[in-house]
Amino acid sequence: MLANANRYRFWCRFPTTKTRFPTTSMALLDSMVDYGHEQVVFCSDPVSGLRAIIAIHNTTLGPALGGTRMWHYKSDSAAREDVLRLSRGMTYKAAIAGLNLGGGKAVIIGDPRRNKSEALFRSFGRFVEGLGGRYITAEDVGTSVADMAWVRMETKHVTGVNSAGGSGDPSPFTAYGVYHGIKAAAKKAFGNDSLNRRKIAVQGAGNVASHLVAHLVHEGAKVTVSDIYDDKVQQLVADHNVATVEPDAIYDVDCDIFAPCALGACINDDTIPRLHARVIAGGANNQLDDPARHAPILRERGILYIPDYVINAGGLMNVALELEGYSRERALHRAESIYGIVENILKLSESQNILTVEASDRLAEERISAIGHIKQRHV
Ligand code: NAD
Repeated sequence: MLANANRYRFWCRFPTTKTRFPTTSMALLDSMVDYGHEQVVFCSDPVSGLRAIIAIHNTTLGPALGGTRMWHYKSDSAAREDVLRLSRGMTYKAAIAGLNLGGGKAVIIGDPRRNKSEALFRSFGRFVEGLGGRYITAEDVGTSVADMAWVRMETKHVTGVNSAGGSGDPSPFTAYGVYHGIKAAAKKAFGNDSLNRRKIAVQGAGNVASHLVAHLVHEGAKVTVSDIYDDKVQQLVADHNVATVEPDAIYDVDCDIFAPCALGACINDDTIPRLHARVIAGGANNQLDDPARHAPILRERGILYIPDYVINAGGLMNVALELEGYSRERALHRAESIYGIVENILKLSESQNILTVEASDRLAEERISAIGHIKQRHV
């Protein structure tokens, strides 16, 4: 029993120091062991221009489900590091959300505003099909429902589509879950969960951010938004009359809550000293640049950090329902449950005097270990 428990902990454990992605194939294997990955697949199709990586982290609880990100990465190694970190996060996200799914993710290296084509996404779909259902994809940053419709032409292992019982764009459900997670965090930090007149800085004006801002403004919050694309910010100004700042200035905004809803690693050595918020709670994945260092620093500074993979699980909860028979009502109900999940993590963190990230990792790992043990029984 102890051996089993240790084995599952080994699969799931997070590298103790920040890992920069290696450049040789042996080092890649070492890195996979460090992160606990089962499989990493490199996909190349020069005709369509596809360059992609699919990472399957852990399938103890079920097939690895996670979106496909398309981004103009600074380097191939940055893309590889991103997909390893993101897919590991999906394992924990599915576990803490109570889903029978493992963790996986894919990245397509390219500019989402210039390099998309039917051939590229259908080519990617064939690689997904080749994994025989071990990996199920969906949209993520830089990809859309329309892109997934192309992927769907080549594989049935795709969620977040509009056709064939699909649920479409998951970001409204992600945002709805983030909204409820923010309320649970506010209750802990400020004594009540009302967001009326709370000052909230939202980084990003994309899919998740736009839906989140609608909920926040509806409840009376004073919202400030930034994005690297001015047209997206201006759309939110037109829709909700929010305040805006230049992208880099979002860290200096006088606010109660900082909600990262853009890309990862936004909480780092440079930005932490600039933050005014007492709570960090937002939809972006991998918000902490170096979790092992930055989570304790946030606590020392009196900033309550809500683990990203917990609070942004609403979209995964939504697409997971496609595998069972989709119901929008159930999806909304599940996303609301993030309030209670956040409360449980905060209670464990306080009672055991551990970081919020340690509390959430512990709950996720315990579930993976317990269910993994059950699955070993011959029936
Ligand atoms: P999106 O592409 O629609 O939005 C991201 C936005 O961030 C874009 O508008 C982009 O221009 C902006 N951005 C990039 N760098 C920025 C910077 N430095 N400052 C300000 N803005 C910047 O993507 P999305 O679907 O809204 O996802 C946002 C985040 O939430 C991502 O980290 C994603 O992984 C995470 N997430 C999304 C979902 C979902 O359902 N879409 C689910 C879980 C997690």
